[in-house]
Amino acid sequence: MKFTDEIKRRRTFGIISHPDAGKTTLTEKLLLFGGAIHEAGAVKSNKIKKGATSDFMEIERQRGISVATSVLAFEYNGVKINILDTPGHKDFAEDTFRTLTAVDSVIVVIDVAKGVEEQTEKLVEVCRMRNIPMIVFVNKLDREGKDAFELLDEIEQKLKLSVTPLSFPIGMGYDFKGIYNIWEKNVNLFTGDSRKDIEDTVEISDLASEELDKLIGEKAADNLRDELELVHGVYPEFDKTAYLEGDLQPVFFGSALNNFGVRELLDCFVSIAPTPRPKDSETRTVKPDEKEFTGFVFKIHANMDPKHRDRLAFIKIVSGVFERNKPYLHVRHGKNLKFSSPNAFFAEKKEVVDISYPGDIVGLHDTGNFKIGDTLTEGEVLNYRGIPSFSPEHFRYINNADPMKSKQLEKGVDQLMDEGVAQLFTLEMNNRKVIGTVGALQFEVIQYRLEHEYGAKCTYENLNVYKATWVEAKDPKSEEFKDFKRVKAKFLAKDKRGQLVFFADSQFSLQMTQQKYPSIKFHSTSEF
Ligand code: GDP
Repeated sequence: MKFTDEIKRRRTFGIISHPDAGKTTLTEKLLLFGGAIHEAGAVKSNKIKKGATSDFMEIERQRGISVATSVLAFEYNGVKINILDTPGHKDFAEDTFRTLTAVDSVIVVIDVAKGVEEQTEKLVEVCRMRNIPMIVFVNKLDREGKDAFELLDEIEQKLKLSVTPLSFPIGMGYDFKGIYNIWEKNVNLFTGDSRKDIEDTVEISDLASEELDKLIGEKAADNLRDELELVHGVYPEFDKTAYLEGDLQPVFFGSALNNFGVRELLDCFVSIAPTPRPKDSETRTVKPDEKEFTGFVFKIHANMDPKHRDRLAFIKIVSGVFERNKPYLHVRHGKNLKFSSPNAFFAEKKEVVDISYPGDIVGLHDTGNFKIGDTLTEGEVLNYRGIPSFSPEHFRYINNADPMKSKQLEKGVDQLMDEGVAQLFTLEMNNRKVIGTVGALQFEVIQYRLEHEYGAKCTYENLNVYKATWVEAKDPKSEEFKDFKRVKAKFLAKDKRGQLVFFADSQFSLQMTQQKYPSIKFHSTSEF
């Protein structure tokens, strides 16, 4: 197959949702359609079980699963689909933000009863900032939930999206009869049988036809006609360009558990979702069909076996082809590296591959060369725009508990930070190290892994920080900035890249500081 055809047939995306909305179930149903798995239950949920906060076996279990589900690739109607796993638990939110830099589009899953939930809001915000095309799937229609119009309103308001339904539910919960597919103009009746591969659909191109009354009853048919009239009156016509530019989000309804409405979603996805998109580097925009290979690291996974400290670095291929055993330039280190066993990922296995194309993910064995955001090329000195850091929510001083092992501690902390487990800051005032995490569980993970993988011991001390903000001074030489640095000296730190960070101890103090120093900007991410 031609190189450009390989690119055209690839769709690399992530599914985002609040925990329990049905991401794992939907993933599994998509894989079943692709024939990549043969039974339900094959995809393990990467959720941390409730109440398992101190259970290290649970942490290890989770890490194991998260390697297994990092990338799930399958073929459907000649299209190569790569699903990138986006951990749902709030303790792993950073990981999910970073994965969003490697997807070309997303599917947002929403629970029909719970509506838009907190984590979905955060993740959609990141997608919106990056103009990532989104399709919304409203799940669990077999249960009582919110009225479809009410939910569409909520999605528009809370997620700040502009939606247009491409399918519409006929009843819900106990009365759920099926969906009308606006995109394909047919009716699919709900039977509650999840084992069916392909559902039978009935073409109804004319809504006025009596056929509809026969299928779902007169009352439901009239109701549907009214609702669809309203849909056409209120929501814009679907426009693929607007979707691809992130300006319009189509919505589907269904029930992942019952495998209902999933085929409609998948068929539409395959036909509208973007092929691998161009990516901005610091110097230029790189197109996927360029001849020379480029790619970047968006995730690093430590080996589960503490005796072998090698890691798996996940590379998203942006342009050209990636070949096994060919030397590539590691731009940050300025040296060439060859990879003899790059892994590709499939639903239930990983395999060594000779060649991979834009949109694909390869896993490279790494002994400490990579960190998140690193770029590989065929020689061009080019850096993909950094993956932003977001302010952590929990902060603690980290202390060395075993003076004989300070080297090990340093190395361990360094590598765990490269992996993106947490963020490290150094206080300006006294050079003390502060670790910031998104979820409190991460502190225990770090302590445990330092001990088991690096033989180092640490203790923590609480530190009252409300938010870390990245400081940008209009004029670093100004009196205002000098005054700020003097007055706030106790609250200033450097992140790993040496960028200046201000630790605000409350929302109030952040506001006061902002007011007092109007020429200084306080950013909530490291990318500005
Ligand atoms: P995740 O946390 O988003 O990955 O959610 P899961 O896929 O693990 O689903 C959470 C729970 O909701 C599980 O008990 C599923 O069986 C259930 N579930 C998923 N989809 C549906 C659905 O369409 N209908 C109903 N009734 N339950 C569902």
